Amino acid sequence: MRNIDVIILGAGAAGLFCASLAGKRGLNTLVLDNGKKLGRKILMSGGGRCNFTNMYADHNNYLSTNPHFCKSALARYTQWDFIELVGKYQIPYHEKTLGQLFCDNSAQDIVDMLKSECDQPNVTIKLRSEVTQVDKTDDGYVVTVNGDQVSTRLLVVATGGLSMPGLGATPFGYRLAEQFGHSIIPTRAALVPFTLHKPLLEALQALSGVSVAATVTSASGVLFKENILFTHRGLSGPAILQISNYWQPGEYVSINLLPDLSLGEFLTNEKQQRPNQSLKNTLATLLPKRLIEVLQQLGQIPDCPLKQLTHAQIDALDNVLHNWQVQPNGTEGYRTAEVTLGGVDTHEISSKTMESLKSSGLYFIGEVMDVTGWLGGYNFQWAWSSASACAENLPHQ
Ligand code: FAD
Repeated sequence: MRNIDVIILGAGAAGLFCASLAGKRGLNTLVLDNGKKLGRKILMSGGGRCNFTNMYADHNNYLSTNPHFCKSALARYTQWDFIELVGKYQIPYHEKTLGQLFCDNSAQDIVDMLKSECDQPNVTIKLRSEVTQVDKTDDGYVVTVNGDQVSTRLLVVATGGLSMPGLGATPFGYRLAEQFGHSIIPTRAALVPFTLHKPLLEALQALSGVSVAATVTSASGVLFKENILFTHRGLSGPAILQISNYWQPGEYVSINLLPDLSLGEFLTNEKQQRPNQSLKNTLATLLPKRLIEVLQQLGQIPDCPLKQLTHAQIDALDNVLHNWQVQPNGTEGYRTAEVTLGGVDTHEISSKTMESLKSSGLYFIGEVMDVTGWLGGYNFQWAWSSASACAENLPHQ
């Protein structure tokens, strides 16, 4: 390879896409990744079908201590641009729900597309290449990879977050940022299932595998209406993963198990129609029977026929089923989290070019930055948009 213009650390979603665009602009590009395989997270994503973007993506779907930062990149390379690229490769896809676009066949289609996009004479991808050190020189950076040193004019950090260490995640990008004077917004696992305290967990374990449509509201008032899933460790499902982004240790979340029903009206009506029917069987027409049984064991649902239900009990039930207060014990952590909240502080990065404001020629893209999307294709869209903003602005010599 001739003199390297740009080294990209990480062959994930952001790194590969950035390499393909930098290559098209004629820059000699080298991508280094510690893994054996390209785009390992892409392959795992969306249950193997990669939810590669969201039709409704905009800046409101992202969390960051600098909420305006992501606007420019998202507006300049949109979901429609990526959908057009997917269309060009004739990759079959469908909308699963809420604008979430998934491959019909396999996430491998997206990895293959990125590989083809990178298939240019001036783009080299080296796998099994662990980067352990970066030093600044007068005209760029020297990268230590597998013990060897490689010089580059420009350096793009696309090392992702900390979730799923088994897929190659490392804190290297954060350490590198700190080395060049950047602040790191404290990181934590996000889009992650909740674990529960023992008494509640033991009671709910009987429900493992049961899924219910619900709305879940955080202590700060953020609300998601999607499914929740009871697991043998606690609570998961899309609504729980979404709310985990907004949850702080110690806080309760409120779960509305019947978001589309006025329970008071329903029970008053049922009481008149079927006075001798048990409350349990009545509620089992609305929710899984096992869930009703567990809530009964927990003393939250009385065991009586409808005719014995008092107004006060109906009010109490209304409160339990519309506003069930659950205090998670914690989360399952990075082992199962889809993303990492926090990261390189974007106040110190140009929102137009993704270049460091601390060290010229150094860039950050993708999840390593303090920009975290909701569940639903938003995190990949951030990878594509930030990679594009960077690649389009990498200077020629
Ligand atoms: P990554 O894709 O994580 O890539 C970073 C790369 O850098 C990795 O290959 C890593 O091995 C490499 N690296 C790290 N340190 C070093 C080092 N020192 N030297 C060399 N290489 C290094 N998002 C969605 O939008 N839709 C989904 O359907 C979806 N599903 C997901 C499912 C799972 C199980 C997980 C874990 C995440 C999912 N996400 C999804 C989130 C999405 O995968 C990430 O937000 C996205 O991959 C971030 O892209 P990135 O390029 O910034 O980082």
